[in-house]
Amino acid sequence: VRTPLLPSVLVASLTAAAGLIAACDGTPDAVTPPQPSATATAVEPSGPPVKTVTLKETGINPTWMDRSAQACTDFYALACGGLIKSVEIPADKSSWGPSQELQLRTEEFLRDTLEKSAKQPGNDPIQKKLGAWYGACMNEAAIEKAGTKPIKSLLDVVAKVKDEKSLHAAILALHKHSVFPFFDVSSQQDFKDATLVIAALDQDGLGLPDRDYYLLDDAKMKEIRAFYQGHVERMLVLAGDKPAAARKAAAEIVRVETAIARLAQDKVVRRDPYKIYNKIDRPGLTATAKRFPWDAYWKGLGFAGIKDVTVNSKEYFAGVDALMASEKPAVWQSYLRWTVLAAEGSRLGKGFVDERFAMRAKLTGQKAIEPRWKRCVTSTDTALGELLAQEYVKAKFDAPSKQLAEELLGAVRGAMKAELGSLSWMDAATRSAADEKLAKMNRKIGYPATWRSYDFEVGGEYAANVVTASAFELARQLRKVGRPVDRNEWDMTPPTVNAYYNPSLNEMVFPAGILQPPLFDKAFATAVNYGSTGGVMGHELTHGFDDEGSQFDGDGNLRVWWSDATSKQFQEQTRCVEDQYSAYEAVPGVKLNGKLTAGENIADIGGLKLAYAAYREARKAAPERLAAEGYTEEQIFFLAYGQSWCEKDRPEFLELIAKTNPHSPTIFRVNGVVADVPAFADAFSCPAGSPMRPAKVCAVW
Ligand SMILES: [Zn+2]
Repeated sequence: VRTPLLPSVLVASLTAAAGLIAACDGTPDAVTPPQPSATATAVEPSGPPVKTVTLKETGINPTWMDRSAQACTDFYALACGGLIKSVEIPADKSSWGPSQELQLRTEEFLRDTLEKSAKQPGNDPIQKKLGAWYGACMNEAAIEKAGTKPIKSLLDVVAKVKDEKSLHAAILALHKHSVFPFFDVSSQQDFKDATLVIAALDQDGLGLPDRDYYLLDDAKMKEIRAFYQGHVERMLVLAGDKPAAARKAAAEIVRVETAIARLAQDKVVRRDPYKIYNKIDRPGLTATAKRFPWDAYWKGLGFAGIKDVTVNSKEYFAGVDALMASEKPAVWQSYLRWTVLAAEGSRLGKGFVDERFAMRAKLTGQKAIEPRWKRCVTSTDTALGELLAQEYVKAKFDAPSKQLAEELLGAVRGAMKAELGSLSWMDAATRSAADEKLAKMNRKIGYPATWRSYDFEVGGEYAANVVTASAFELARQLRKVGRPVDRNEWDMTPPTVNAYYNPSLNEMVFPAGILQPPLFDKAFATAVNYGSTGGVMGHELTHGFDDEGSQFDGDGNLRVWWSDATSKQFQEQTRCVEDQYSAYEAVPGVKLNGKLTAGENIADIGGLKLAYAAYREARKAAPERLAAEGYTEEQIFFLAYGQSWCEKDRPEFLELIAKTNPHSPTIFRVNGVVADVPAFADAFSCPAGSPMRPAKVCAVW
């Protein structure tokens, strides 16, 4: 289920329509924790003595650097050029760097615990459940033998579509199992009353990653569209359709998906919370989409009493309502059949899995599918994440690490508080509201205070387990409607190498998975932890004040708390960032979308500034300064920031993110950002007019 707008995540995880693309992962060469150094200390004429260490001892990885590159011309090349030159992207990846290698190590750890649980579950109910899930997923012989049996009940409902009434019934049956033709359903906090949870209906039901893939007529989009139609056809044949029938159906499916895409909101429009929030409740829903039997729908989902409902757009729901009546039942049979295969295909036998992967490879450039165990680790994390996380947290995130992360975050918050006090473009009234928002901002580090439960049975049939788990999750989401908000919940599992800010809860969340070497380590130099993880924390904090987050107040309510004059200044600076990034090219001929990426870019720029201010404050009274291999401590701070984003990407992947993702490619998350942070140019003594000290600097935060 795709939640509209929320939350803002750190890394370009690709969640796409109909589960086509799984989250991308992340990273690097292991960094050896710094050894205590016996190197002599020198004394500078002014300031504290300088302690000379090696880069490696600070936590910087010198092999990732290209020391022939110029910091002031292309800082990304200096920090990451060595990695980019030497690394070969693994066949089963679309990108590779420190975070992907960290993710691989995390997956290996989880695999080991899961294999143990699958082989010797003992009497522990948690280990039994985890072992059963992973074991069923790994049992390819049984999966092959089951064929399409696990999804037969869904396909049977679809085969009964003969008129509008049976179409509506089939949509309900699929939605109950988290297969979402036309639209999806979930719950969310009411944007305008953050104490309430309401039901949310949103556009959905497309098999390609974005509406542009259906509507744009450039050569690349046409090529992907043609490939997609062939893919749909091949999936239908695998499911038992005759080749001629599958060919005709695939053309019809792409035609109706194109009609849905035309109704769908554009991804830039969807960054405006006012454009995706329309609390029309049950009566408004009936008035908007008149033909659809909403009472039967909610009752069928098991939630007849739901009253409060928001839709992303009334036009969309009126449009699909009319669309459902405008096509022959046979066309809808094909479309619904396809949505089932698209959602469940990767859990069926090898033929389906390989065909689904072929489509993904076309979009991401990946050369080989991930080994089965990795897919099963991911699947377990998705279905039973907070059970799987318990061993991980015990082994990988000790109390001193948690304490250090808390200190770091406290320092970054302190820097934001000081920043708010000194901003020239903000008037006093807005400043005090911003102060209040910062004071109320909640933070979660590592893992949840209490572990959630998963009250469903796990059996021996993998695809059936997934259907059960999806139905359980949807019901869990809808059960929240009308109840008070649970502030202890997490939207990411603890081993996740990522982080997020949620504006409705006004909270930032840092799973244990990202607070690991080579991104974070209690043995690293202070400058390195602040440059890397401090930057991440500053990023999430700044999301509270980016183009989206700034529209929610400290209590998580969508309301205007900015004065007109200050808001105008903010928008001007935002436009500066949009223009800056719109000029960057992801791959030749494909520019970034400055409006789509504005929030992430603002968070990157603001985040680095906050991390730097926090670092300076933390080292203000330090008895000594570090220097390593010709780099000052400030330069080491920036190298750590740059290295946290080292990544080599396949061109297909870069093009995909440029077209669909709010995050900029990592080269711009470094070079675009340091160009807007004058402290960087100062640290490296960059001459005026050099690429990293441009004449025009954008400064939102
Ligand atoms: Zn972000």
